[in-house]
Amino acid sequence: MKDPVARLIEQVRLDFKATADTTGLQSMSPEVEAALTRVPRNRFVPAGQQSHAWENTALPIGHQQTISQPFVVALMTQLLDLPPEARVLEVGTGCGYQTAILAELAREVFTIEVIPELAEGAQERLGALGYGNIHTRVGDGHAGWPEEAPFDAIIVTAGAPRIPASLEDQLRPGGRMVIPVNSNWQSQDLVVATRNEEGELDCQRVLAVRFVPLVGRES
Ligand code: SAM
Repeated sequence: MKDPVARLIEQVRLDFKATADTTGLQSMSPEVEAALTRVPRNRFVPAGQQSHAWENTALPIGHQQTISQPFVVALMTQLLDLPPEARVLEVGTGCGYQTAILAELAREVFTIEVIPELAEGAQERLGALGYGNIHTRVGDGHAGWPEEAPFDAIIVTAGAPRIPASLEDQLRPGGRMVIPVNSNWQSQDLVVATRNEEGELDCQRVLAVRFVPLVGRES
């Protein structure tokens, strides 16, 4: 019998295959697969959900929020196309699972969470796991992290009505943003937005997804 981590990897590989026509990605990259294998998802899942920790599903983490489905985490990470020297901004830390995956692949991760209790829990967890390249902040991620901009990549892990202009401004030319943008009241299009040399965003819709809403607003 396969161990739970190997079983999860197999399921995520199958999801990559099943969605290849729309995502344009034929398979999970070895780098993303290694990160998914290394990060202990059970450490990010609440006590009552431990028996589901290695399933390829989103799970509740309290405060009406979720830990994302591993396939979606892997897909969004791969779409960012991170070089090892990348500095990444994440909006929506949640429990910190996606943050840890990013920290495995990038030089530095700056992550913002609007719910203080979740931000605190994530900070503790990520510290206990020994990540030294993650910076956490409590607040509305619409503002981004101007003092540390520009970023090589930006990931938003909550559904937004549109791409926030302040985040667009904090993406370096050539950089990529991956963000779920509302297509109707209950689902979003996962969008990859690349900032071209003229400073404009080239947007590509990748897949229909379901995320909790991005709260707050642009100032
Ligand atoms: N990244 C997480 C993971 O690893 O599974 C999943 C994040 S959860 C789907 C979305 C998170 O975005 C929630 O924790 C929510 O509180 C947060 N959020 C929503 N609106 C936000 C905002 N304006 N700024 C920062 N965080 C926000």
